[in-house]
Amino acid sequence: MDENHAYLEIESDAWEKEVLHSDLPVVVDFYSDECPPCEALAPKYASLADQWHRDVKFVKVFRQKNRALAESLGVRGSPTVLFFHGGQERGARLTGGIRRADLVHQFESFVGPERAQEIRDGVRPIHSSCDVLILGAGPAGLTAGMYTAQAKLKTVIVDGALAGGNVAITHQVANYPGFSKPVPGWQLADHMASHAKGAGAVLREAVDVTSFDPEAKAVVIDGYETIQARYVILATGNSPRPLGIPGEKTLKGKGVSYCATCDGKYFEGKEIVVIGGGNSALEESLFLATFVKKLTLVHRRDAFRADPGIQEKVVKVPVIEPLMSHQPAAFRRLEDGRMQVDLIGVGTGAPRSLVTDGIFVFAGMVTNPPPGTERLARDESGAVIGDEEMRTNLPGIFVAGDVRAKRYRQITTAVSDGTAAAMAVTKAHYG
Ligand code: NAP
Repeated sequence: MDENHAYLEIESDAWEKEVLHSDLPVVVDFYSDECPPCEALAPKYASLADQWHRDVKFVKVFRQKNRALAESLGVRGSPTVLFFHGGQERGARLTGGIRRADLVHQFESFVGPERAQEIRDGVRPIHSSCDVLILGAGPAGLTAGMYTAQAKLKTVIVDGALAGGNVAITHQVANYPGFSKPVPGWQLADHMASHAKGAGAVLREAVDVTSFDPEAKAVVIDGYETIQARYVILATGNSPRPLGIPGEKTLKGKGVSYCATCDGKYFEGKEIVVIGGGNSALEESLFLATFVKKLTLVHRRDAFRADPGIQEKVVKVPVIEPLMSHQPAAFRRLEDGRMQVDLIGVGTGAPRSLVTDGIFVFAGMVTNPPPGTERLARDESGAVIGDEEMRTNLPGIFVAGDVRAKRYRQITTAVSDGTAAAMAVTKAHYG
């Protein structure tokens, strides 16, 4: 047993005894070092072990040292969490940005709803405080955190996903100063997160934000942990704008995707339709074209909005077939499992349908102010208004990045906002 927490660290030779022959249900975390999602999971796993260890055995296996075991189980990435009961693997495996709730969901199926409720009721709320609470760990939040931590302000950055925001799921970033060759988005995000952490900011990633109270400057995460601050920087960014057409919502994640990096690999050798005409649609089409045999790029106008340099690259890729002046009207799943995109010709009104294997939508972004911030002044699009010092209309609450009302949204402008917000907070604190 770990000396501070109620989990067991094992090697391959203890697998049978501790996992397959355990009387209790078992959860196993295969982890690695130099693995940010593993670091994000570790404190959640330790605290869950302390709360559930009477009913579930918590095991950790260092994957790099136990490769043969991992491979024999088909574990190919870290972290991978597996569940066992009665010597058999149960439930779905968890990977990537694993949330506390994902684990608890499986534990409930082991112990039943009544016992699960009893354990939940026994969890004692935790309160902590810091100088600066940053909501959102994208480029704006990470930059702000790096600056405030360097200024010796106790800084906590909270995010519902892993650090990096939209950059982490961008295939290549072509216009970040200092990287003259395109840099993979995940790598740039990783550099930024490491920099903020190295400066002393504490990252709380892949947590559920239960509530946020801007008056108290307090956030509740995972239902039981309150973090209260003197200053808050809202850096919650933006997310893909849905088209709002029939079939889109029900088929999301079942053939309709908003993330090429996440889902492109499922369309190797297949046909897809991409919707949109901006930088994202064209950049992500270049990436998707490396997998698919045919990509129809549907845009509602007769000219793309994307930068000319990106357009020049797209026209040179044979598998990409632009279809201009068509507006998507509905998505459907056909009986044979394929997808159908219904289109209307712009100007002609003529209906047309495309049958395809998958649909990717890149129709711009909508801002994500967190719940509880209705009293913040917003613009007509819902973005939060901040002044030159990134101050909002509420005292002690600052805003930075894509969630802020502004004209240009780039990684560089998010970094700029994060810098300004952090400097304003530092000035407010030290005078
Ligand atoms: P965007 O520039 O707003 O483009 C959205 C595209 O979706 C537009 O072509 C738009 O058509 C289309 N669209 C919107 N609503 C639609 C609807 N209901 N039906 C059909 N089509 C619809 O968004 P983005 O490409 O996601 O880019 C967002 C921001 O990030 C931009 O500032 C962009 O420059 C930046 N970005 C930069 C890079 C880069 O510099 N390499 C890469 C990615 C993103 P219309 O053209 O007719 O409006």
